[in-house]
Amino acid sequence: MLARVARPGPEPVGGNEAQSLVLRAGQTPRRKRYTIAHELGHFLNERHRPVDGVRFACTAQDMRSPVREGVRLRQEREANAFAIEVLTPRRLLGRHLKLSADLEHVLKMSDRFDVSRAAAARRYVALHEATLAVIFSRDGRVLYIDKDEAFPRTAAWKGDAIGHLLPQPGREPLSGMDQVEAEDWIAGWFPGEVFAQTLRQADGHAMTLLLAEPRDRGDG
Ligand SMILES: [Zn+2]
Repeated sequence: MLARVARPGPEPVGGNEAQSLVLRAGQTPRRKRYTIAHELGHFLNERHRPVDGVRFACTAQDMRSPVREGVRLRQEREANAFAIEVLTPRRLLGRHLKLSADLEHVLKMSDRFDVSRAAAARRYVALHEATLAVIFSRDGRVLYIDKDEAFPRTAAWKGDAIGHLLPQPGREPLSGMDQVEAEDWIAGWFPGEVFAQTLRQADGHAMTLLLAEPRDRGDG
């Protein structure tokens, strides 16, 4: 159990009701900040109901890409939407979003707003005007993918091996945004160009930013 918010029962909030948020020890300060914001998102939303009627029990997976069902899935997504809006206010993101897509800007957002690189990358993909996706991997296998709604279906999915498509280890941690073979990354035929950029991180983790650029109509 990563984080819990105890919530009062049907009685009105306030009075002597104890309310608490429990954080797992050993989290980085950035993870703690995100977790607190996520749990506040549950707590402040009157429609959110804990599964056992008493407390939310959110996992690390809930904080990045929840795989719950029904109401619980919606609640987790809403808590994440709340957390990222609070931590990286939209009105302050302009200069990070207006230049062409590059993980350099994700790193700057991570430092500027004190959020994890992964959270910054998800935010970047969601708000940048280019058609983007980000693939999080470890030891060359996909952990999860976050993508713009307009981004086509990716060729790889959770658990698939993509190590052979990533830049060799030992080079600079951050590769350039290079044009790649569309069929390596996108399922089916894509009428346009695809670019990929990978950031290698600690413990075999990597994130790969994908940019899909449809060919202009009438371009032949
Ligand atoms: Zn949650």
